Amino acid sequence: MDFNYRLQHYFLKFKTPFAIAHGTRDGTDIVLLHFTCENITAVGEASLPPYLAENKESVNDFINSFFKDFKFTNDLNTCLEYLHQHKSGNYAAKACIDIALHNWFAAYRQIPVWELLGLKNNPLPPCTFTIGMGAPDVIREKVKEASGFNMIKVKLGGEHDKQIIETILDCTNTKLCVDVNQGWKDPDFALDMIHWLAERNIVFVEQPLPKSDKQGQQWLFQKSPLPIIADEAVQTIEDIDAVKDFYHGINVKLMKCGGISPGLAMVRKAKLLQKLVLIGSMSETSCGIMAAAQLSSLAKWVDLDGPLLASNNPFENVNYKNGILQI
Ligand code: MG
Repeated sequence: MDFNYRLQHYFLKFKTPFAIAHGTRDGTDIVLLHFTCENITAVGEASLPPYLAENKESVNDFINSFFKDFKFTNDLNTCLEYLHQHKSGNYAAKACIDIALHNWFAAYRQIPVWELLGLKNNPLPPCTFTIGMGAPDVIREKVKEASGFNMIKVKLGGEHDKQIIETILDCTNTKLCVDVNQGWKDPDFALDMIHWLAERNIVFVEQPLPKSDKQGQQWLFQKSPLPIIADEAVQTIEDIDAVKDFYHGINVKLMKCGGISPGLAMVRKAKLLQKLVLIGSMSETSCGIMAAAQLSSLAKWVDLDGPLLASNNPFENVNYKNGILQI
């Protein structure tokens, strides 16, 4: 079938600068793919935080090289097989095409993407609202914005972790989970912090130690009173076996693994291994968030609040009714 496509570069700005253990930034480079066939245009997205290897140029190159010899057939699986075998790596670029193809086939068949995937319209788990690191007055303002959400995800791994948690607990009863982004370098310190957090009923801790510290993580896993979720330590389905014995769960993100179909395979594998599943995101527009949302009925928690943190989401905003993302 004849098709055409257009690539659009976009800078998704944060409402306020966003600080995590990796550093502070004002926004995120995004590439949007507009794929058109039979008068249906479907959109895909690649989100490119600076700490990842891909950038706008590499995504452009990958997408152009993919479409050069691409034969668009009326069979999604054939298209996806061709996509995911086209070159190694380039996961955000693959996610961009994978999302656009799923959206196109869903629109063509006039069904939602979750139905295209053979999933059920089950209720979604609570979505977290993310609060970056900051001074107490900034944190208090962010907590106000989180009203209506049933869980807050707090970024830690800096010098004022306990102060941040105490500030939040002073002004809300909402459940908290924390994401350290590899920011605690010492396993003993991490264990002390996790005990301190457990006394404050924190739900889980994401990526406390550097992903390279496998020995430290194994030790921490055996002693931790809270579930520990792997994020940076797990990119694709191939990484799950290597971490399954020292994390309680994994954070699946479409940008890390190459899109909806590899994401679904990761979720299924993690669940088979009885791991807790969090569906997460980079900072993304409604396009990337709604793609991840299609898998969310399979997860224990979802962290898909990107559009709420952005000031220039180019699409219709995502609706979070009573802290649950609406598909
Ligand atoms: Mg994380």
